[in-house]
Amino acid sequence: MSLHLFSTPVQCTRCGTVVDDPTVDKCPTCGNLLKERRAPRRLAGVETRYGSLRTLLAVLRFLGLMVLLLGALVFFSTLGDDGGSSLNGAIVFVSSIVVAVALFALAGIFVLMMDIEENTRSSFRMQQRMLEQMEPQHTAADPLADEAAPVPPAAAH
Ligand SMILES: [Zn+2]
Repeated sequence: MSLHLFSTPVQCTRCGTVVDDPTVDKCPTCGNLLKERRAPRRLAGVETRYGSLRTLLAVLRFLGLMVLLLGALVFFSTLGDDGGSSLNGAIVFVSSIVVAVALFALAGIFVLMMDIEENTRSSFRMQQRMLEQMEPQHTAADPLADEAAPVPPAAAH
């Protein structure tokens, strides 16, 4: 079970219905599972960053795919040839697999780092919102707490 601190309206990716109830896991219109709300970015309402880096990573994955395809092409074109040529082809094929895996892993590391940054930013935003929500309730429950309250950051300097 997840904790629903703040309602985040979610739009169904299948039928476009906007669901406001945070406790609903499935779209009431078409029954599509609403997975989007579980992302920290959606919960905290922070924007995605590094648009250009994401494009570069897509290029990197495309290059990895191209290397793999070229290696496979060389390998299968030398299959019918004599021993030395097909051995070279096999070496090129294996090398292309290694390079492609390295490129995909590199792209994955960057995605991981961006996800961590996004999660940190979302956690900070959520923490700030929780503090903002707690502040008025605290003063309403105990009027004397105003005097004991810490100095606001703006006045601390
Ligand atoms: Zn739907």
